[in-house]
Amino acid sequence: CGIIGVASIGAKDAALANITLDALKSLEYRGYDSVGMASMDSSHLEVRKAAGNVEKFERLKNPLNMKGNIFLGHTRWATHGEPNDINAHPHLDCTGEIAVIHNGTVLNFLELKQDLIAKGHRFVSDTDTEVIAHLIEHYRKLGMDNFTAFKQAIFSIQGDHAVLAIIKGDNRIFFSKKNNPLVIGLGDDMNLISSDVWSLVKVTNRTITIGDDELGYITATSVYAEKITGEKVNLTSRLIIQQI
Ligand code: GLU
Repeated sequence: CGIIGVASIGAKDAALANITLDALKSLEYRGYDSVGMASMDSSHLEVRKAAGNVEKFERLKNPLNMKGNIFLGHTRWATHGEPNDINAHPHLDCTGEIAVIHNGTVLNFLELKQDLIAKGHRFVSDTDTEVIAHLIEHYRKLGMDNFTAFKQAIFSIQGDHAVLAIIKGDNRIFFSKKNNPLVIGLGDDMNLISSDVWSLVKVTNRTITIGDDELGYITATSVYAEKITGEKVNLTSRLIIQQI
């Protein structure tokens, strides 16, 4: 399983879809049963996904014609819900404005799901992951700004994870890490975040490793993280130039 996110103010549309797809191919060795991508710009958010391998996803879903300057990519190793098209990531909230990809497990997802259903949320998949999108939606509806809502969603879930989320109208890719790998790549007019440093090397050799219990966001030109305790993380002090 693996995750990749890319935010860019240079390359977009097919060029960015291609970078995302390339990264997914280099994450294939981690093992997976389904593949999906999301793309977003200021006016739209789209998700395409399918059970099977990256080659099948590419053939059936034609991801190279997805449009946007922000992309997410996911390879799934199912833990909750059989491997099928609907359970593949990304997962959306009810409004279709929030897309989430996730490696790991949400141990308390049943309790959270029941609570959200009681509040009127409608679920379409059998995954644990879908609760994260609905939790973000829930906290936004309470009036929280996007990052605060993302953080509240993360604070609500139990279990190891690497999570990426995007929200329509927001140029950030939100991330959280707990005992699953996550590394940032700093490109030119573009930043990336991935499960694996080797999925980034075609684009950049400048990387920053995220620590456990850290969350934040990247944009095309900036990176930010804090510990779950709220303390700001000095990401630039962790910059590594990979020798390739
Ligand atoms: N628990 C999630 C699911 O079953 C994510 C699995 C993964 O790590 O790919 O959909």
